[in-house]
Amino acid sequence: MRTLADPFNLRRSAYEGAPRLEARLQLASAVSRLGTETAFEVVNRVGALEAQGQKVLKLHIGAPDFRTPEHIVEAGRKALADGFHGYTPAKGLLPVRESVAEYCTRFHGGKVHPDQVIIVPGGKPTLFYAVLLFGEPGAEIVYPNPGFPIYESAIRWTGATPVPLELREANGFAFSADELLAKITPRTRLIILNSPANPTGGVASKVEMDKLVRGLVNQPHVAVLSDEIYSRLLYDGEKHVSILSYPEIADRAILLDGWSKTYAMTGWRMGFGVWPKSLVDQAERLQINCNSCTNAAAQMAGMEALRGPQDCVDRMHAAFDARRKVIVRELNTIPGFRCGMPKGAFYAFANTSATKIPSRELERRLLQEARVSCLSGTSFGAMGEGFLRFSYASSEETIQLACQRVRELMSQAPAAR
Ligand code: PLP
Repeated sequence: MRTLADPFNLRRSAYEGAPRLEARLQLASAVSRLGTETAFEVVNRVGALEAQGQKVLKLHIGAPDFRTPEHIVEAGRKALADGFHGYTPAKGLLPVRESVAEYCTRFHGGKVHPDQVIIVPGGKPTLFYAVLLFGEPGAEIVYPNPGFPIYESAIRWTGATPVPLELREANGFAFSADELLAKITPRTRLIILNSPANPTGGVASKVEMDKLVRGLVNQPHVAVLSDEIYSRLLYDGEKHVSILSYPEIADRAILLDGWSKTYAMTGWRMGFGVWPKSLVDQAERLQINCNSCTNAAAQMAGMEALRGPQDCVDRMHAAFDARRKVIVRELNTIPGFRCGMPKGAFYAFANTSATKIPSRELERRLLQEARVSCLSGTSFGAMGEGFLRFSYASSEETIQLACQRVRELMSQAPAAR
């Protein structure tokens, strides 16, 4: 319940730790290890402010502010009208998987058989299935930090040891292959890559990817999950380097991609995994256990997205690119903030350490005092302290106004409280 002392109902939310359980209920210990995606909690806090009539400038959401392109929506409508109402095969409808295989050849430079493809409800299931297939107590899984928070959460859930790979601002938040390879032990089962990255906008270079793969050839016990969900959002001529373009490790490389970010389809819950032949049956089994299959009509819309005109993607890309330049310029005018130019995705990861205000506190103050929502860098792991993530999947006007409000606030009272 919201009260004056707790206007955002924080005490009851996972933001402050799992809610207290009734003593008589015996939940699995893994429940207490499950993390969260704070973005969803900020959504609730913003909603609470808006319900009080406050106008919040929203830069916390990792979702395009565009509608799904009309030809894709129409394909979904038609599928419903045509009777796509039932279960599909667990891996997905064959023509849809064929369209994914074609797409992977075109955009990821890899040869994919439709049997390797599993269509899932969003990007997350591929991540969860991969971690569930390898994670257990005693196993180690390397993941990027700061990084998408569900990696660490899923690893901890299985009881495996999460091994953070630190991504540094000085390096444009790109990973170092030498550092990553040095983290590998006989207990390492899986490494997780994410390029372009959430929350930093960092991009892996071909040089580092080549070096990593050369090193992995000598570590045959290690699988790779490559999260390439932002692969169509690269700027300044950067070229995407997909894990699928390395046949040397094709027998243990898992690709995570999906429709959410590329086609403004976050709410349709459409994603896909490309699995090596040795793992695809087990992953399919997890899909059967968790989801049975993915929404049939949404699959048909997804196929239209991949096979239909791509100029909608280009248009959204051009808008994000323009906003990227605006937000970085604006953030750099705020006292105590500095922000490098991200090379991919739609996030600016600003270094706010000069404000001397802990990131979580700064996130709350920006929302409460400037009515601007963003996410603390610590939402993405301990190594995100000293940073705030601003999503620029919002209009230029909103970005400019938000930065103006934050600038005013930070000009008045930058001191820690
Ligand atoms: N991977 C990364 C890096 C993300 O940022 C996200 C969403 O924000 C996902 C996966 C999950 O995508 P979806 O919403 O399609 O499950």
